[in-house]
Order: sequence, then structure tokens, then C-alpha cells
Amino acid sequence: MTVAKKFAVIGNPIAHSRSPEIHQAFSKQTGIELSYERILAPLDGFAQVVQDFFAQGGNGLNITVPFKEEAFALCDVLTERAKAARAVNTLWMKNGQLHGDNTDGAGLVNAITTLNWSRNHSHILILGAGGATRGVILPLANAGAAEIVIANRTLTRAESLVEDLSAFVKTTKLQVISLDQLEGHFDLIINATSASLAGEGIQLPNTLTFNYAYEMAYGKPSSFIDQAKQRGVPTADGLGMLIGQAAEAFYVWNGVRPDLSHFSL
Ligand code: NDP
Repeated sequence: MTVAKKFAVIGNPIAHSRSPEIHQAFSKQTGIELSYERILAPLDGFAQVVQDFFAQGGNGLNITVPFKEEAFALCDVLTERAKAARAVNTLWMKNGQLHGDNTDGAGLVNAITTLNWSRNHSHILILGAGGATRGVILPLANAGAAEIVIANRTLTRAESLVEDLSAFVKTTKLQVISLDQLEGHFDLIINATSASLAGEGIQLPNTLTFNYAYEMAYGKPSSFIDQAKQRGVPTADGLGMLIGQAAEAFYVWNGVRPDLSHFSL
């Protein structure tokens, strides 16, 4: 008899997470039997919850807000992309050592590729310099971006992000600007701020133009998407990225890559 593998996602809050339904769908598609729970960790008790999960025979954890940096700090072994991001969203135990990866960037690159947005994404503008931006810079650079401009409300945060990332990003030019310096033309603009979640839109000036617009948030109204649509620019929200990061985590844990070509929730 095959024993079902045990997975879970930890966050605070966690009730909204769609990860269980995504991983159950992957299980159905691949025939890998698993359970996948939501775990609400207390803000001061994350490490204990992780330890208990693996002590009880758990196979893998996904980590979401606000614990990705704490998960990074707990790991004994890190992948290159997790080191670059300084944040971890995928954990597993191997030979008594806690391993950590960051699959957010792979999820985003996969989502953009799947959208079949025809032109190459050489010049990219990212709004925001939080954990999500940290996770996607190296994968976007490795996917061929020539230049990534990071615009953030708090300039110093973007500057320290670029300082950390420059040890990993070799040929892609990384540049920092503030939100009131938005101008010029980009192949792709990505909203990685949580402004939409708070119902606070960022005004995109007419001197800023772009071919495609990707909003990392999903399931909520977004003034970023509204503004892009008003300009006739193709848009997408972050559901594809969420599914992509889950597929990459599934692959890390199980060695089998779910087929996303006909995947929908
Ligand atoms: P963080 O809290 O780490 O960073 C938030 C960022 O948003 C900061 O750069 C912050 O700027 C900026 N910001 C917040 N409010 C405003 C505002 N009113 N105006 C301008 N800038 C603002 O969040 P994350 O990086 O973890 O997440 C960012 C977004 O990406 C969220 O919407 C999240 O849901 C989404 N996400 C989606 C994923 C997916 O799979 N689809 C995966 C991960 C994240 P400052 O530094 O100045 O405070």
C-alpha cells in the first residue's frame, strides 16, 4: 500500500490560501497520493510549527506571508535562487537537514511564458521591492532580461535589494528609481507592490509606456490592471504565478512536473 505524502502551507493568515486545491489537482493529475493542509502559525511560533511538522513525518511545506524570511533563516541547505531571494517558500527535510528553495520566480517566469506574450521581455519595470520582488529578480534575469528597473516608494529598500542581488545577477543591469520617476518604455511592467490589496492604486503617468502588464496579486480589484486595460495593454493577474510556483514546489518535492498546459482551477 502506498502511504500518502504529507504536505502543508504555513502562513498567518492562511484561510484564504488556494494551495491545497492546487496541490490536490496536481495529485489527481500525476497519481501521487498526498494530503495538503493549511496551518496557521502564531506570529512568534513559526519555527516550532515547522519542527513539529517534520518530526511528525511531514514531507514538505510551503511558506507564505509573513514567514518567508524566517524560513530562509532556519534552513541548513539553500538553493541558489533561495540564497539570492533571502526568502524561502518551499521546505523539505533530507538527511536530517532542513532544505529551502524559492519557487516564486520560476512560477512568474512560467506564467509569463504560458501567456504567450509574443515579444521578448528584455526591459522590465518592477513596482515594489518587498519579498516578492526579491524572489523574482534572479529567475527573470536568468530568463534573459537585459535590464530590470525596480521602482519603490521607499528608495533605500530597493537599494539594499539590488545590493544583495548583484552578487547573483551577472549580466542583467539592475537599476533603482522612486515611484515619482516612472517614465520611459518597457517591454513588461510587473506590479509587485501590495498597494492593490490595500485598495491604494499607484498612478502610472502617460510618460511611462509598456507592452504588457502583470499584476502579482490575484482575486482582488486592481487599479494597476484597470490603468493598463485603459491603454489597451494585455494584462494578467497573479493566479498563473501562484499555480506556477506550486508546480515548481511539487516538482522539487516529488520529482514530477505537473502539466500546466490545460490546467485551470
Ligand atoms: P511586501 O510586504 O514584502 O512588500 C510590499 C511592497 O509593496 C513594498 O515594496 C511596499 O513599498 C509596496 N507598497 C505597499 N503599499 C504601497 C502603496 N500604497 N504605494 C506604493 N507602494 C506600496 O509584500 P510581498 O513582496 O510579499 O508581496 C507583494 C505582492 O505580491 C502582494 O500583492 C502579494 O499578494 C503578491 N504576491 C503574489 C504571489 C503569487 O504567487 N501570485 C507570490 C508572492 C506575492 P515600501 O517598501 O515603500 O513599503
